[in-house]
Order: sequence, then C-alpha cells, then structure tokens
Amino acid sequence: MLVVGGGPAGSTAARLLAKAHEVAIAEEHQTAGEPLHCAGLVTRRGVPDFARKSILCEVKGARLHSPLGFTLTLEAKGSRACVVDRSLFDKIMFHSAVDAGAVPLMGASARSVIGSRDDVHTQLRTEGRLETVSSRVLVGADGHRSICRKSAGLPPPRHMLKGIQADLKGLEFDPDFVDLYLGRDVAPGFFAWVIPAGDLLRVGLCTWDTNRAPAEYLKKFLSRPQFAKGRKVSIAAGKIPLGVRRSAVNGRIMLIGDAACHAKPLSGGGVYTSVKGAELCARVVDAHLARGGPLEDYDPLWKAEFGRELSRAFRVRKVFLNLTDKKIEKALRLFSDPGVKKLLEEHGDIDYPASISGSVLKMAPKLAQFSPQIIRSLL
Ligand SMILES: Cc1cc2nc3c(=O)[nH]c(=O)nc-3n(C[C@H](O)[C@H](O)[C@H](O)COP(=O)(O)OP(=O)(O)OC[C@H]3O[C@@H](n4cnc5c(N)ncnc54)[C@H](O)[C@@H]3O)c2cc1C
Repeated sequence: MLVVGGGPAGSTAARLLAKAHEVAIAEEHQTAGEPLHCAGLVTRRGVPDFARKSILCEVKGARLHSPLGFTLTLEAKGSRACVVDRSLFDKIMFHSAVDAGAVPLMGASARSVIGSRDDVHTQLRTEGRLETVSSRVLVGADGHRSICRKSAGLPPPRHMLKGIQADLKGLEFDPDFVDLYLGRDVAPGFFAWVIPAGDLLRVGLCTWDTNRAPAEYLKKFLSRPQFAKGRKVSIAAGKIPLGVRRSAVNGRIMLIGDAACHAKPLSGGGVYTSVKGAELCARVVDAHLARGGPLEDYDPLWKAEFGRELSRAFRVRKVFLNLTDKKIEKALRLFSDPGVKKLLEEHGDIDYPASISGSVLKMAPKLAQFSPQIIRSLL
C-alpha cells in the first residue's frame, strides 16, 4: 500500500491501514507540517484525542462584519471550535502513522502514477533519484495540486481559492471570538478572518476569480488601524480546492482530503473532512486487501458522511458569490432576526453549516430574494 502526501488526510489513512497492512507514506518535504498553510480553526471532532496537545485555544463565537458596517455576533454557550498549531498537529498525525508501522518516505515526491487492472505504479523522485513503487492500491492525499487526481483522470476542483495569512504579535484581542470580514474590496469570492491563536492573532483571507494577488488584499486589510500596533511574525499562503466531484475513486486510485476537493465551500476548512474521509477510505481499502471488497464502496460512504453537506454548501456559495456589498449587508441583517440568530447560535455547526439552511430559510423567507431557484433547492 502506498499513500502519497503526509498531511492530515494521508497520515490518518496510513495510521489506520498500517495496523493490518504494509504501508509506505511518501511526503515531498523533509518534515511533515511544513510549510504551514492553514489558519488552524477546526472543530473538536477534527482533532483526534492523541493530537489534543496541538490545541492552542477554543472559541465560542463569531462576529460577521458586512462591508457596509453592520456586525452580526453569534455566541454559543460553550466552545464551538478550537484553534490548533497546525504544524504541530500535522507532525503528531504523521508520527502516529509511523508509530503504527507506516514506512515514511521523506523528500519523496510523486511524479507520475500509472494504474493497471491489478496494481498501481507510482514514480517517486527522491534527491534526484527516480524509483517506481508498485502497490495494490494508491491513496492520493497529495493536496490541491494532486498528481494522483490527474493520473486517475478525475476532474479538477470547480473553484480554487488563493489564501494568505499573517501571524501578528503585540495586539490585544478577544480570545473567545473569530472575526470574519465580507465584501468585494476585502476578499472577493470569500472572506477575511481574524483568529486568536494563543498569544498571536492570525489575520488572513482567501480570494477567488480575481487578477489581483491575495497579498495585495491582505496588505490593504492589515493597514486598518486595529492592526497598527501588530508585529508580523510569520506569513503563510496556500490554495483551497472547492467543489466536490461525483467520485473520488478510479480503478485502484483513491483520493482523500484536498486531493478529493473535500474542503468545505463556506469556510474553506478541510481538516475535518480530510480526517473523516481518510477513515472511511482506510475502512474500504482494508476490506479490499483483506477480502477483496470493492474500492467503489468508498464513494457512498463519504457522500453520506459529508458529501451531501458539501454539495449543499457549494450551492449556498453560489448565492453568496452573486451578492453585492449592499446585499451582503441586507442578508446579515436578516440573519440577526432573534429566532434565526438563536437557531444559528444553538445549532450552527462549522462542519455542517448547510444542514440547517432549510430551517433558516423557513424562519427568514426573505432570504429567498437573493436567488429563488438555488434557495428553493435547499429547502
Ligand atoms: C490559507 C489557508 C487557511 C486554511 N485554514 C483552514 C482552517 O482554519 N481550518 C481547516 O480545517 N482548514 C483550513 N484550510 C484547509 C486545510 O489546510 C486543508 O483542507 C487540509 O490541509 C487538507 O489536508 P490534506 O491532508 O488533504 O492536504 P495537505 O494538508 O495539503 O497535505 C498534502 C500533503 O501532500 C504533500 N504532497 C503534495 N504533493 C505531493 C507529491 N506529489 N508527492 C508527495 N507529497 C506530496 C504536501 O507536501 C502535503 O504535506 C486552510 C487552507 C489555506 C490555504
């Protein structure tokens, strides 16, 4: 068995499969978890118990800022999400795979993959040397650029977000809340975030479908007076593939995490679905290796667990993309209706945000004005 990619998806699959099978995990970098490319906001269900020490802090609410000045504050009674040290999180996940028996192939980059009826041949490049590894199944966990996805002939993501963030020191902030800033001038096609991360403040944004680099938007955002006293201690950038596809398996190549476009369309978060998808994939691969079970069983499993949610959320994203700044303001004001706000505060879940879209729309039917056709499909 070969797993390509040592992020949360690949490490989870390798850890679970190594318990009963011979597994190698190829990671193109020398160290797992570097370079950093994540804000680290995850629900507790995305952090296995053994990785809990990567948690920096917990948050219980969010403030959503419209481009025209209105702020919607959502505050839950207890913790709603945690912020992890993503680099440490990835290292713990990777080492747990190695501890379970997976063979680490560090600095090994997959260059090409050829699948046949009985096995898969993956060409790995390590320090200039090329070597072909043959395996009965290949798990592609190689992130948004996924060579495995291309080799399997599976389609690319529908939207590719470009993200950038800076960690700032020296600022005072509310450790219980994340702040999200919407608006075409702030972060076209997505949003900007301000997240407490221990003693640091993590300020970042993603953009979509714009010719201007996200760094330009971040520079402008950071020029706001609230960040004036902050000292930049690090900067990270990356991409997030959105838009789940019909299948994440072709022949003997299985995709998990960002390689499978399993990130959440409304938040851009992909850690939870990477870990969950990897667990489901490992279950199917184990059944295949042990008893010849069909690898195609993976598709219905991830669809039932989070695929339907991803599809619904992508439809909500389409509505969001059509909103002018004025309409964003109007929508946030509709969400501030006491009944809707209570529903969001009590039942909102960042892993399954679209699951309450039907109830929200019933309570605030005026939201249907933004895209009647798509919104009807969510009811
Ligand atoms: C700016 C930004 C902020 C984000 N914030 C959040 C957040 O707050 N919460 C959240 O849940 N998600 C967030 N995400 C998304 C999250 O980072 C990803 O969804 C998650 O990392 C997916 O995990 P993965 O294991 O599938 O892929 P990755 O974490 O990308 O891991 C893929 C691994 O494969 C390796 N690799 C790639 N190609 C090859 C190859 N050819 N050969 C060998 N190895 C290879 C890479 O080096 C990497 O280690 C953010 C993303 C960005 C860009």
